[in-house]
Amino acid sequence: MTSSSTRRFLAKELAAAAAAHQAADIVPHCPSCAKPCCKLEKLVLELEWKQVKTLWRIDEARTAFDKGLATGKGPEEIRESGGLYYVHGKPCPAYDDPSGSCRIYGQKLKPVGCTDFPIYEDQGDIMADLRCEAVNLTALKARIATALGPTFRITQSADEEFPFLVTLSVKKQGNRRN
Ligand code: SF4
Ligand code: SF4
Repeated sequence: MTSSSTRRFLAKELAAAAAAHQAADIVPHCPSCAKPCCKLEKLVLELEWKQVKTLWRIDEARTAFDKGLATGKGPEEIRESGGLYYVHGKPCPAYDDPSGSCRIYGQKLKPVGCTDFPIYEDQGDIMADLRCEAVNLTALKARIATALGPTFRITQSADEEFPFLVTLSVKKQGNRRN
C-alpha cells in the first residue's frame, strides 16, 4: 500500500469505528444521560443564522436581531461573533427534555458539531470528548484494533489546555519515528 492509500484506508476505518461507537455505545445512552450535552451547561453550540432563525422562531430581520443581541435584549444564551452564533447556558430549543432526544435528529438543520460530538475522525486521528459520560476509550480502542489488525498500534494523548479532549492516533508497528 502507498502512503496515500494507507492514509485513506486509516481515515475510512477510523471514521467507521467512530460511527460504530456512536451508534452502539453513545446514542443508546443519551435518554438516561446524567448531564445531557444538549442542555449546553458545559458545551457551546455553534450555529448559522438560518439555524438560529428556525430554532428560536425569529420573525424579525437578521440585522434587527443582531442589533437586539448587541444591545443586551437577548436571547441571553446567544452571542454573535464573526457572523456565527454561539449558544451556552440554556438548553437547545431542539432538545426534548422528557425523552432526552433531539427533535431535529437526522435533519439538515442539525448542526454538524452535534453530529460530531463526542467522537469523530479528523485527518487520520480520532478525536474524543470525555465530557460525554458514554465515551468508552477502552471499547473504542478495541474496536479500532479489531478493524485495523495487529499491524497498527494506537496511541492516546490529551489536549494540554483542555484535557477532556483526547486524540487517538494509529501508527504502523515498527515505524516509531513516524
Ligand atoms: S453527553 Fe453524551 S450521552 Fe449525554 S446526551 Fe450528550 S452525547 Fe448523549
Ligand atoms: S440540535 Fe439536537 S443534538 Fe444539537 S444541541 Fe440541539 S438538541 Fe442537542
